Amino acid sequence: MAIDDKVSAIYDELLKRNAGEPEFHQAVAEVLDSLKIVLEKDEHYADDGLIQRLCEPERQLIFRVPWTDDEGNVHVNRGFRVQFNSALGPYKGGLRFHPSVNLGIIKFLGFEQIFKNSLTGLPIGGGKGGSDFDPKGKSDREIMRFCQSFMTELYRHIGEYRDVPAGDIGVGGREIGYLFGQYRRLANQHESGVLTGKGLAWGGSLVRTEATGYGLAYFTQEMLKHHGESFEGKKVIVSGSGNVAIYAIQKVQELGGTVIAFSDSGAWVECQDGVDVEKLRDVKEVRRERVSAYVDEVEGAVLHEEGSIWDLPCDVALPCATQNELNGDHARVLADNGCSYVAEGANMPSTADAIEVYRERGIHFGPGKAANAGGVATSALEMQQNASRDSWTFDYTDERLREIMINIFKTCASTAKEYGHEGDYVIGANIAGFKKVADAMLAQGII
Ligand code: NDP
Repeated sequence: MAIDDKVSAIYDELLKRNAGEPEFHQAVAEVLDSLKIVLEKDEHYADDGLIQRLCEPERQLIFRVPWTDDEGNVHVNRGFRVQFNSALGPYKGGLRFHPSVNLGIIKFLGFEQIFKNSLTGLPIGGGKGGSDFDPKGKSDREIMRFCQSFMTELYRHIGEYRDVPAGDIGVGGREIGYLFGQYRRLANQHESGVLTGKGLAWGGSLVRTEATGYGLAYFTQEMLKHHGESFEGKKVIVSGSGNVAIYAIQKVQELGGTVIAFSDSGAWVECQDGVDVEKLRDVKEVRRERVSAYVDEVEGAVLHEEGSIWDLPCDVALPCATQNELNGDHARVLADNGCSYVAEGANMPSTADAIEVYRERGIHFGPGKAANAGGVATSALEMQQNASRDSWTFDYTDERLREIMINIFKTCASTAKEYGHEGDYVIGANIAGFKKVADAMLAQGII
């Protein structure tokens, strides 16, 4: 059978067996497209059902999470953990608390995580989890009771050598604290390596909070450098205003760029003179308010409740909010306005159409599984510190992160070139991430 037909048959079967999971289909389609190029050269990667096994999670857990609100009413949410692939190491990937969470979204995130983790060069497998719980508007005690109930089921499935969750949308330091406390209580041991993103006093790593955003900035800086440019004098748009966005904004500005806009799910803020990062952190991290509060307090910042953040002319676009937030029409506007670099802080924020536009219009594009790998890489550094009962300085950890991101960019660039698609970092990331996992799976037999 021709390679194209073989891969199409695998994809058709996957659509049938995973109906109603469009985000998962989208993530798999993008990877399979790149794998055709590998299979043309090395057909043995299709042996022994390797691709089918790669697309089927090793284990999928779905569980009930009952909790009681401050008025005594009982609520029932659904918890998920998809343990996708552990060929390279224990499952590793964040937990997302957001009302949109369903099995398909967790599977897409877990699938992406396999390749991302492989690209870091560190010994971590791929997994992801979360719940359809909405943390917005909940009291601190409600968040605590929810986290305790969630962990009461999850704890039997995780561990330092088995599966190591971290944060994602809706799960930050506070939630990791409550989750770790309940794990410690149930397991009756202080197992630091079971979760990452912990507080500094109890096994956390310096730079973990900043890591995804800083890593995105380091990756983008390397991509700019590769094309003879730098952040100096560039106008940059960063969507979102959560953990990834805040520290991407901070590092981009330190590296000489000006961030001219950011957003939340309700509005976007234009700030042509740059972002006051300390004010933004105060609004989002301390007071947990909306971006409109920033505009009330910072001169020159303008709130937009209509239109799209991508309508604003910029040189570099860094989507850092959520999946499919940047579509083909947005990408065309970006290109028309002269934007020539896009790198993803969020997971799969660009639709397949948008990626097509980047290719047609010559926009240099860093896909999330490469550009946002700094978070999980620093989580793996946290695991290393936990395993050796050590804690590293900020500068040392930050330098390790920077080296990892430069390496990831170089791997994507050299792999794309090796396979005849120079400059296509999607193909580079997918192929480099895949080959390492595939080689491990082939060596470990049909399991
Ligand atoms: P946060 O919860 O800290 O922030 C999420 C941000 O995105 C908020 O500004 C939020 O706005 C916005 N947002 C969320 N959902 C939507 C939506 N449906 N439409 C528009 N805006 C939305 O999450 P993170 O910063 O941790 O995560 C952001 C992205 O980065 C996600 O795709 C995540 O998977 C990815 N990522 C995160 C890593 C990490 O280390 N945290 C690592 C690698 C990737 P609002 O407050 O209004 O909801």
